[in-house]
Amino acid sequence: MDDLFERTILIVDDEAVNREILGNIILSEYKVIYAENGKDALEKIHSNASSISLVLLDLLMPVMDGNEVLKSMNEEGIISDIPVIVLTADKSSEIQSLRLGAADFLTKPYDSPEVILARVRHSIQLFENSKIIHATEFDKLTRLYSPDFFFEYASQFDQRFPDKVMDALALNFTRFHLLNQLKGRSFGDEILKQIADGIRKALLKTGGIAGQNEADSFYLYVPHQDDYGIILQKINESLSSILKPSEIRLRLGVYSDSDRRFPMIQRFDHAVQACNSLRGKTSATSDICVYDDKMAEKEVFDAHLLQDFEAAIEQKQFKVNYQPKFNIKGDKPVLCSAEALVSWIHPELGRVRPDLFIPLFEENGLVTKLDRYVWEESARQIRRWKDELGVTIPVSVNVSRVDIAAPDMTDFITKIVKENGLATSEYMLEITESAYTSDQKHIIEVVENLRSLGHKVEMDDFGSGYSSLNMLTSMPIDVLKMDKAFIRNIQPGNKEMKLVELVLDIAKNLGVPVVAEGVETDEEYKMLKAAGCDIIQGYYFSKPIPPSEFSRFV
Ligand code: C2E
Ligand code: CA
Ligand code: CA
Repeated sequence: MDDLFERTILIVDDEAVNREILGNIILSEYKVIYAENGKDALEKIHSNASSISLVLLDLLMPVMDGNEVLKSMNEEGIISDIPVIVLTADKSSEIQSLRLGAADFLTKPYDSPEVILARVRHSIQLFENSKIIHATEFDKLTRLYSPDFFFEYASQFDQRFPDKVMDALALNFTRFHLLNQLKGRSFGDEILKQIADGIRKALLKTGGIAGQNEADSFYLYVPHQDDYGIILQKINESLSSILKPSEIRLRLGVYSDSDRRFPMIQRFDHAVQACNSLRGKTSATSDICVYDDKMAEKEVFDAHLLQDFEAAIEQKQFKVNYQPKFNIKGDKPVLCSAEALVSWIHPELGRVRPDLFIPLFEENGLVTKLDRYVWEESARQIRRWKDELGVTIPVSVNVSRVDIAAPDMTDFITKIVKENGLATSEYMLEITESAYTSDQKHIIEVVENLRSLGHKVEMDDFGSGYSSLNMLTSMPIDVLKMDKAFIRNIQPGNKEMKLVELVLDIAKNLGVPVVAEGVETDEEYKMLKAAGCDIIQGYYFSKPIPPSEFSRFV
């Protein structure tokens, strides 16, 4: 046993002689405090609870006997914090005290001091070891299994019930991070505790076990259910005491009838994947997602893309297409710039849309390498148009929020603009709206720096995220790009059209031109023109096309 700290033992006996005999034996290794009866003992335990490593407890005492002390310790839950060895001359009372949670017993008259010391040491050590195991077995806050133990117990569950159909469930929720920031950590802790309580209540219905993975994600391994609503319902009930339903959204990913040929961790990866696929979906009906073959296919597809990325860069499989933007202020639309859009001509899969690989590459940072390739290619293309056609076509490139985190982003852009002899005003950047809400301070710094160098910065996908219209007033931007979804549903005088008009109005007041993207039809074009929109981009004029075809717009 380590000697990092001296342990204290409480000896409880009504006879002074007995206290002295035991005390003398134990004093050689431990600090000792004494109590003369049960009442006295409980008081000492209360006032020294954290420092007492063991109680030696006589059973027969006046005022309050040993078994009553044990009962109290049980009721107060102290028995799981401090081991007790009972002292007795009467063998038959041992059983009851063991039942009441005593760790061991010593019979009077006492054995040799060595035997007593050995049993004391043994009890303390056993107890401390099990406490350590206990501490790692459960999450301190939620009292759910920690991940390693969870997977171990889930596997044991499989062994004991080889034929049971089991579901692997992953639970996480939105806005925890935000709530933690807004309402403080202890409030965050309270949320986690309530969720854990709700999970325990749900398990009473479904059976099974639960563990906690990271702060805000939980695992459940339960016998197959047809309806998982009961689980969310129990948790929501538990949370309702501290949160409004709108403040948090639970998401449950289910790997139903989980295939036992896969390792346990992988089965839960499937559940997590199903859970993550609910990200960004806002409908209240989409709180539960069951893992299916499509997701399995997507997983394989994603792995394929990741694996092929480096080769694709080397072999120039990524192609940059350009979609023209037209200024529609005058009588005739005038080409004013182009947006660079990447696509992947994959040797086996054919053309792969950026929607399928950009979010994937954003997750692991590969997007920055890809984007820099696109940015460099775009800078060269502006140069080529200057040289071959004798015109300047400014190009805007897409910037992922991941790119902005790189400290040398601006240096890189400055370098490629210089190398190709371009003016900074010819090289524009599109940053999606939601990036502005994630790390505002940093992004504003970067954007202001780029603008001070002469670049134009467009806020992309405006209206798709959570930013409010009045946020615009504090954002350093040059151009507003309205999200496609806005345009999709406009009809004369309808709600969407009114919103478009409102955005145009605000932008006008701020002196910021507006690009409407995704414009496909003549009606859309006319409505937008009438409403005072400045610039149009969309299939109405052209799809994104390779540079070789672009000269027809010049
Ligand atoms: P985005 O930046 O909003 O780009 C506009 C998307 O709308 C493009 O899709 C474009 O082809 C499409 N589009 C243009 N006009 C119309 C139209 O009239 N109707 C409809 N339905 N769609 C239209 P694309 O090329 O599939 O790109 C999808 C997204 O992928 C882009 O959305 C952008 O977020 C991302 N992306 C594309 N290229 C890059 C890149 O080089 N780097 C980064 N980081 N993201 C890129
Ligand atoms: Ca864009
Ligand atoms: Ca956009």
